[in-house]
Amino acid sequence: MSQIRILSDHLANQIAAGEVVERPASVVKELLENSLDAGADRVDIQVEGGGTSLIRIVDNGTGMDADDVMLSIERHATSKLIEESQLAAIATLGFRGEALPSIGSVSRMVILSRTRDAEIGTRAEIRFGSLRDVHEAGCARGTIIEVRHLFGNLPARKKFLKSKRTELAHIEEVIYSQSLAHPRIAFSLQVDGGRKKIALPATDSEQRMRDVYRYRDTLLPIQAESGREDGLQLSGYLLLPEASASAKLRVLVNSRPVQDRMIRHAVIEGMQGFLMKGHSPAGALLLELSPELIDINVHPAKREIRFRKASDVHRFIIHAVSEATQQYQDQKRSEVFALPESAPSPSQDKIPMPWEAGGRNTDLPKSMEPAAPAVNRPGHTATASPAPVMPVMPDRPGTPSRPTMPTMPMSPSVAAPAEQQVRYSGLTLIGQFLQLYLLCEHDGQLVVIDQHAAHERILFQQLRQGYLDQSLVSQCLLFPVSIDLAPDHADTMEKEADAVAAFGVEAEFFGDSSWVIKALPALVGKTSPEEVLTDILDGLANRSTESTAAVVPEYIDTLLASMACKAAIKAGNRLQPEEMLDLLRRMEESEIFSHCPHGRPVIKSFSRQEIEKWFHRI
Ligand code: ADP
Ligand code: MG
Repeated sequence: MSQIRILSDHLANQIAAGEVVERPASVVKELLENSLDAGADRVDIQVEGGGTSLIRIVDNGTGMDADDVMLSIERHATSKLIEESQLAAIATLGFRGEALPSIGSVSRMVILSRTRDAEIGTRAEIRFGSLRDVHEAGCARGTIIEVRHLFGNLPARKKFLKSKRTELAHIEEVIYSQSLAHPRIAFSLQVDGGRKKIALPATDSEQRMRDVYRYRDTLLPIQAESGREDGLQLSGYLLLPEASASAKLRVLVNSRPVQDRMIRHAVIEGMQGFLMKGHSPAGALLLELSPELIDINVHPAKREIRFRKASDVHRFIIHAVSEATQQYQDQKRSEVFALPESAPSPSQDKIPMPWEAGGRNTDLPKSMEPAAPAVNRPGHTATASPAPVMPVMPDRPGTPSRPTMPTMPMSPSVAAPAEQQVRYSGLTLIGQFLQLYLLCEHDGQLVVIDQHAAHERILFQQLRQGYLDQSLVSQCLLFPVSIDLAPDHADTMEKEADAVAAFGVEAEFFGDSSWVIKALPALVGKTSPEEVLTDILDGLANRSTESTAAVVPEYIDTLLASMACKAAIKAGNRLQPEEMLDLLRRMEESEIFSHCPHGRPVIKSFSRQEIEKWFHRI
């Protein structure tokens, strides 16, 4: 007798269930996808016991007639795929016709469904794989599916489930990620008969994003199209770097949530220099492309996909994301610096400054002279005064060009008399708070700037650019410093002398583990030669051999961020008004200025309404 037998349907379903139905969240995912495929615009979900006692999903989609209800629980029965040729270009979420029979084989499942035209609906009950009962039943148009006692017949599998809380978190994640692709569909989740755990009303994509992420700050909109026949389109939103620690990056490809390292990597590359290295980006991205260019059928739960032109997609995403990053900087620049439309004419602002009147030599850089603001606020018309509003800064002959902040004199402060306005572009300087924050006014807003973070970012940008074009200028030390290096640093120094020199450090071997430092990169200002060298040597020692496509390798960015941090003005540095103005000017000029290299924000603005609310004026 032959040893090979065909599996019974019952067994085949259970085996398929092993792949498709891993945990309660997989059931929710399959049922939710079916509701979406059925054109529902509202899907309500109830779960009990983390999904093992009950999953109930109610939709108002097309529904099924009695025949279709019966067919839907047959293995490989689907209304979505008719010909083999369609397999290459799947447009629906489901196509395998496996979900309902699989779920039915490991639970007690009830299907209740009615089509639009039918007077009455159909109710079918399946208990652990066998059909128990079918009859007519009254119900609303659409489909209700109830799944009870999930894995009741598979105690071993049930044992593998995590705590109710964890299973519930997986279920929520399924709903959240799917909801991002369908903002116009309302979703809700009720847990253990309590209050709605999720209540997402039908809305637009931006509001859905905010609802899902509970996020109120600025979103970075992503919008790009390849314009090629591959039909590549990317849309969605990223959160600001400071939100990245607590939120997820969700990626949907052709409306299907996927986990894809290539896409994730491209987003990180696109945010390079903005998001701190090693942090993960947060937000939701929807990638659309011609279905022929992906293979969804590589994972039974369709969690992974394969791209046919992965490198094109990778490049496309990097470009779209870096564009959005840059746009955010420009938008922020005009928000913070642009002349407000209500700006008074500059002539009225020509109040002599204390240092101007007293003739105190402030060593003002030439570049402090009034410069026309580089950006205009969108919609800002040329009828408003185009002239710079920074009233003072005379062009002093013979002043040195652009000193770096740390080398600036930090003399005891002589505060500007309150009635005199110190302005830069659209910003009026109020003063320094806690010797750490610059307080400014801009168009009726209070703008608070973290001086350390701001300066750190400026230096980081300059160091990075200098490193990229091999143009880091070094500055000779007045007195060369001899340094005794720790053994591992001494080893690195010997091996990597050229790499160290590329940062603008001039060092001479002095025997054994001693080196004499003669010059340092000009940008690091007053940082001690030892600290600068240690940063570089640590960085070089951490160099990974992994090749990356990044413009600046990760270890270099980390090293430059550390150098910038040490060289930047600190909390506790009292700044002169002109130094604050210089900082503002350099912020405006910096390609990226909104966040420090560690992803912390540099600027926070408080609107007049916000402040008036504090005081119950409104
Ligand atoms: P697939 O989604 O891969 O086609 P399923 O087993 O998930 O396979 O569903 C089988 C069929 O049952 C679907 O093709 C669809 O015709 C029908 N169906 C399932 N759920 C619903 C629903 N909520 N509303 C309408 N039809 C449904
Ligand atoms: Mg399905």
